[in-house]
Amino acid sequence: MTWPNLTDAQRRMLIDSEPDDRTGTEGCGVELRTGADYAVAKALERRKLGHREGPGGSLPGMYWSNAMGLAVRAALKSRHGRATRYTMPDGRSFIVTGRYYLASCDRCGWVGSSEECGTDSGFDDSDVYCPRCESPGADYGSEANTASEEVIEP
Ligand SMILES: [Zn+2]
Repeated sequence: MTWPNLTDAQRRMLIDSEPDDRTGTEGCGVELRTGADYAVAKALERRKLGHREGPGGSLPGMYWSNAMGLAVRAALKSRHGRATRYTMPDGRSFIVTGRYYLASCDRCGWVGSSEECGTDSGFDDSDVYCPRCESPGADYGSEANTASEEVIEP
């Protein structure tokens, strides 16, 4: 599964706010250049993952992750770099990389990485559509649930 309810833009900003290289705790500031950046920073602040300042005078606004934001960042980083092999009871296997997971469609039988699925909006993963027949619910397809899971690259 993906980290719940974070958009790609929110994940990116969390990744950008890396731990401070001296203290290792507070996140480094991320410069907010556009209105969209501010919206993302505000959303992260609402989720209590960090805080936002500015803009003040000629200085741009900044976003910093707090301890919780850094913990979520570490979890996201570990998902980004890994690959998982899913093996079905009938022997078919699927490699899924990064933060994606094995999805399947109960209507047409499609099985594959959730990376190939569309979602109902650009902003969250609340519904996951089958790339073959466009049925919703590919994120909880019964066939994917029968696969065994093995992390092949940490
Ligand atoms: Zn389908």
